[in-house]
Amino acid sequence: MKRVIVYPGSFDPVTYGHLDIIKRALKICDQLIIAVSSNPTKKSLLSLRERILLLKETIKEMKDVRVEEFDGLLVDFLKRKGVRIIIRGLRAVSDFEYEFQMVLANRKLDEKTETIFMMPTEAYFYLSSSLVKELAGLGADISRYVPKFVEEKLKEKISHAKSQKKTF
Ligand code: ADP
Repeated sequence: MKRVIVYPGSFDPVTYGHLDIIKRALKICDQLIIAVSSNPTKKSLLSLRERILLLKETIKEMKDVRVEEFDGLLVDFLKRKGVRIIIRGLRAVSDFEYEFQMVLANRKLDEKTETIFMMPTEAYFYLSSSLVKELAGLGADISRYVPKFVEEKLKEKISHAKSQKKTF
């Protein structure tokens, strides 16, 4: 039987930190589904479509991984896919509390789900999509953190947001 794992998140935008976790996850499963949350209550700079397109471009040379969107509860998405395992990345201290809460909440909703945590390489330990957006907004070089096409898309979105005086 194929071992399928779901890697959920906002990916606003995908970073090399996410990619690090994707590569690690592929070592322990036969198929990885990257589940992009369409949760409209969480404000994102990039649209769902843009987030998905950037992820697809990022993984285009990789086998056994695909990108899908989901809305509503993650456990319902898992049930629809017949998957029980969730993978999440774990960075420095900041992730712990939130991730513990999510594991317990998902377990209460469906006790069959299990969550696996993986740590990225040290270079990405403090990297987040928010940091990348902040740095890009200040005009910093973010090529160490995201692929070129992500950098270009971010710059385009940020200059558009600035011209509309929006925050991100
Ligand atoms: P969410 O809004 O669900 O936290 P994110 O896109 O911010 O969505 O993160 C998705 C997953 O990827 C989370 O498990 C997060 O911890 C992980 N992640 C994000 N950045 C990194 C990174 N630099 N290293 C390791 N894991 C990361």
